[in-house]
Amino acid sequence: MKYAEVILPLPLENTYTYRIPSDIETEVVRGSRVIVHFGKKRFYTGIVINVSEREPEVGCDIKEIYSLLDATPILRRPQLRFWEWISTYYLCKLGEVYKAAIPSGLKLESETVVSLNPDFVAETQLKPAEASVLDAFGNDKELTISVLEKRTGLRNVVPVISSLVEKGAVDLSEELRKGFSPKTEVYIRLAESWESEEELQEAFAALKHAKNQERLLLAYLDLSHALTPERRTEVSRKELLERSGCKITSLSGLLRRGILESYAKEVSRLQIHVCKPQELSPLSDAQEKAYRQILDVYKQKDICLLYGVTSSGKTEIYIHLIRDILEQGRQVLYLLPEIAITTQITERLARLFGDKLLVYHSRFSDNERVEIWNRLLKENGPCVVLGVRSSIFLPFRDLGLIIVDEEHEINYKQQEPAPRYNARNAALVLANMHGGKALLGSATPSIDSYFNALTGKYGLVELTVRYNEGLLPEIQTVNVSELRRKKQMKDTLFSPLLVEQMRKALAAGEQIILFQNRRGFAPMMECRACGWVPRCAHCDVSLTYHKHLHHLTCHYCGYTIRLPEVCPSCHGTDFRMMGFGTEKVEEEIAKLFPNTRVERLDFDSAKTRKAYERILHDFERGRTQILIGTQMVSKGLDFGNVSVVGILNADSLMNIPDFRAHERAYQLMVQVSGRAGRRDKRGLVILQTSQPEHPLIQMVQRFSYKEMVDWQLSERSMFHYPPYYRLIVLVLRSRNEQLLQNLSRDHAERLRKQLGERVLGPVTPPITYMQTLFIRKIILKLEITAAIAPIRSLLEQVEQEMKLNPAFRQIILHYDVDPL
Ligand code: ADP
Ligand code: ZN
Ligand code: ZN
Repeated sequence: MKYAEVILPLPLENTYTYRIPSDIETEVVRGSRVIVHFGKKRFYTGIVINVSEREPEVGCDIKEIYSLLDATPILRRPQLRFWEWISTYYLCKLGEVYKAAIPSGLKLESETVVSLNPDFVAETQLKPAEASVLDAFGNDKELTISVLEKRTGLRNVVPVISSLVEKGAVDLSEELRKGFSPKTEVYIRLAESWESEEELQEAFAALKHAKNQERLLLAYLDLSHALTPERRTEVSRKELLERSGCKITSLSGLLRRGILESYAKEVSRLQIHVCKPQELSPLSDAQEKAYRQILDVYKQKDICLLYGVTSSGKTEIYIHLIRDILEQGRQVLYLLPEIAITTQITERLARLFGDKLLVYHSRFSDNERVEIWNRLLKENGPCVVLGVRSSIFLPFRDLGLIIVDEEHEINYKQQEPAPRYNARNAALVLANMHGGKALLGSATPSIDSYFNALTGKYGLVELTVRYNEGLLPEIQTVNVSELRRKKQMKDTLFSPLLVEQMRKALAAGEQIILFQNRRGFAPMMECRACGWVPRCAHCDVSLTYHKHLHHLTCHYCGYTIRLPEVCPSCHGTDFRMMGFGTEKVEEEIAKLFPNTRVERLDFDSAKTRKAYERILHDFERGRTQILIGTQMVSKGLDFGNVSVVGILNADSLMNIPDFRAHERAYQLMVQVSGRAGRRDKRGLVILQTSQPEHPLIQMVQRFSYKEMVDWQLSERSMFHYPPYYRLIVLVLRSRNEQLLQNLSRDHAERLRKQLGERVLGPVTPPITYMQTLFIRKIILKLEITAAIAPIRSLLEQVEQEMKLNPAFRQIILHYDVDPL
């Protein structure tokens, strides 16, 4: 008799034991996918982590594995080992890593919601079981797998559903379908009998009383160039509806009249436009030197930090390294922060590496994820994956190199849910498991990475000149508090100097970027009479005013209310806005420069990838003259015509109660400044602050990164912060604040008995509750040299002790290792 230790997508235990039925005894191995039952009637897809002959101690009630899903494992070495590392280092369960690592389509469970894809057209005959699953939907659009199992009476419905997912016939839950591009898409064309101009005249005559249909038909003609044969293009239904702004009912009207008709067209989900691969650009002397230095570093070390100023051409160096690795037949993972994966970089890589390029970003639907996963499983040749943080979980065969670009970005850290991993750090471990190298790149490296380079743990290569010898921009500070005092900046966000420079730039046909790291109109609204401030019903924060939507919203949980007309506290009607966000900047700019095309780039305006790309594209093409934005405008964009950058309020970046606030403020300001400057002209940055003599501002002004690092390092060492100390934060949450306070104190005391003053707290964070859960934090500051294993067992032991108290069930506890 053999037993399998199985990982389930549950945060309870690390593994569960099941008996292996004798008929599949030899086939179940480490990495196999199996269906098992857990709890009442529920089933899950589990991953086998171990097979043993020894009967486990809790022998009585061991269930049998229900079925084996694949003939060969869907994981490759060293993926399971990598999961184990993540779960031990980041103090979470293997099931949580499994959940994050594998696309839903590969881990179906009884409660998974399956929905019919209305656009599905079968290309080949469906198998009887597949057809019966589709039939089982009846009039329902979505059903859970357990219901489908019941309705079809199939014993083993999961593999059938998997194959339907793969064919694009069904999809997993509405949530996951956002941004989904089905394998076949519906396209629209003119019906044959309406193709000539006269026929069209007739069509329009028929639509005289159907204005919406008329509008839609016009939009179609515009998009398709149907009247100019040589420019004719196909138009998808989605594009047509989006661009025309018309409803599907108008389209149905035209389809019913037989003027338009629809047809299905196959589109690959992984489609990238590939022409013939191009040659690589030759490197400049400085780039060539850096490239050689990196190769030299790799003779002795596995990790190299490339510190290269903005526009020094780091990407070009990555490209040359990627080529080398592909020539060796190995794979490359190129990590970028979510927002930085743009068409710009994708197309550039596609032109060079053709179909060896795979792109993986977080807006991908689950089907696309499964498709990439399967392709990598089959892939035995060289390839390069351009991806976001979760792409570290893909089944790579042989990674020769992992590049982490913009390595200082905090988005590499997953905040919620577990595993709360930092993809940059995890990537270093992953590269090592593959026997590959890692390259971290940034114009403003994180202090953590730079420290590792200083101490010799990483190699360090510097690129101090811009490509084409362009100069770094000039940064001029403006003292806003002085201007306000002198009444030279009344009721405006813009200093006279900034306005003057903007005028000049616009007159010269140049572009401007304005940076304000806050979205919305005003972060706080107050009743002038009684001081009442509207607050979130679920979180301990004030609501942000969004003027164009005329509502107040919570930036932590999304709670939204209409703007009150009278103060609920004193019935006053006079409200005052405090602080300002991008919307207010936009409004004021519209007044200052009424004939200028302005666009806003923030979380609200760029909700979809498409909107984001459109805003960038329009700016790149010069259709927009002023771009206003949050930190989104600082993300590795390469524009050629920006001569002025305005940083509207540096103070709000610096005055944040966090030991990393200055490091981050420096990074943000330097990155944003880096967008200024054209090939032939030095850029100008106007930095508005009330503390121009502040050391940080002066360091930004001189681009003296190393000075900033020295200064910060001395503070970090003095106050026991990273990189000298490792932080582990215990986050405890509960609806019951008193209980939370008592139990957190108890918890901290137990830890303090062993760790003494390395334990801080419990502290109440600045935002004391979020989504109606109160929060307490216990902070551990551990010497960086201290062994981590004993700490881990201590934390586990204390958690077990705490769990003996039944009241602890009202507490949600998680660990945050290396918090950002
Ligand atoms: P970074 O990532 O360091 O900020 P980029 O890689 O975006 O810089 O390069 C800045 C600009 O210089 C880009 O427009 C890029 O195309 C150009 N560039 C850099 N290196 C080369 C090269 N070797 N040949 C041609 N163009 C280059
Ligand atoms: Zn009031
Ligand atoms: Zn809220």
